[in-house]
Amino acid sequence: MDGVRVGNRIIGADSPVTVGWENIPKVEGGPFKRAFFTWFQPTMLLALVAFWYYAPNDIAKASTAIWIGIGVKLFMMALEVMSPRHTSWNITWKELVTDLFYVGISYTLVRLAGKYFGDDAMIELIRNAFDWSTFAWFVALPLLLQAFLISFIFDFGQYWMHRGMHNWHPLWLTHAPHHYITQLNVHKGAVGNPVELFLIGLGIGGFFDFLPRAALLAGSLGLAVGIYQHINVRFNSPSWWRFLFNTTEHHSVHHSQDYEGSRSNYSGTWIIIDRMFGTCVDGEAELLGMEGGRRMSVGETMVYPFTEGWRSFKERFGRREPVAVPAE
Ligand SMILES: [Zn+2]
Ligand SMILES: [Zn+2]
Repeated sequence: MDGVRVGNRIIGADSPVTVGWENIPKVEGGPFKRAFFTWFQPTMLLALVAFWYYAPNDIAKASTAIWIGIGVKLFMMALEVMSPRHTSWNITWKELVTDLFYVGISYTLVRLAGKYFGDDAMIELIRNAFDWSTFAWFVALPLLLQAFLISFIFDFGQYWMHRGMHNWHPLWLTHAPHHYITQLNVHKGAVGNPVELFLIGLGIGGFFDFLPRAALLAGSLGLAVGIYQHINVRFNSPSWWRFLFNTTEHHSVHHSQDYEGSRSNYSGTWIIIDRMFGTCVDGEAELLGMEGGRRMSVGETMVYPFTEGWRSFKERFGRREPVAVPAE
């Protein structure tokens, strides 16, 4: 395969990747269906932002956010049946059962993290560790600007963590199992090794309980955009949306079997961060996974960072057999 040149690299030399929005299929059907799949994403984002902006204090709390998250996921499952992006990604019983296992683990871990870090003493500790008057200027900013800054700064960190995972072997070991998924659907964000999930869970569950409204707003931005990373729905996202935000298309390139393609689109929400650092590839891929799409079992996913870590450790530092030097 030849691949397509994007910047200074060749994308799609190992496995097909469609590069360029103009080459990506659109939603077919009547005008109502097309309008729905064009405006759904911005409408949901606007609705969530409006909800968290105006919700009274006794509703604007973490548990409400969790229920909204579950509701949005169920709705996405319905959309996956209505407008699948690739029929080869359609959910099977085997996929659904294993996915729900990982979803169960992620909720348990988030709750566990919440229990430890949501603990009153811990909250006090964190609160007292900072001199909050330093942040007085931040709290004085308009609420939506605060929400944007929290979301953007958080994603900026996430971008470098994710890019680090793809460039530093010890971090890669925790992230690799997530790259063995062979299809995208709404549950796939939870599929991976618990060590990685725990690191993500800390951020979500741990600091949830005492989040100010600006952070809840930032979280809803993450939900209304981040949910599309792993989903099997074809949308006609408006071009400004694709320019600013991460999409299924971007993330499918990240999960592609093409090595260069997978080293792109690291951000969670703001794909514009990838544009800033030259790692954005606008396109999509259908063939996903590592080792040509080998499906990793649940057991292997659980132990992979340790077994593979031990194997590469031995390879690197283990005793080497003396090699016979050929006589000159
Ligand atoms: Zn990755
Ligand atoms: Zn992913």
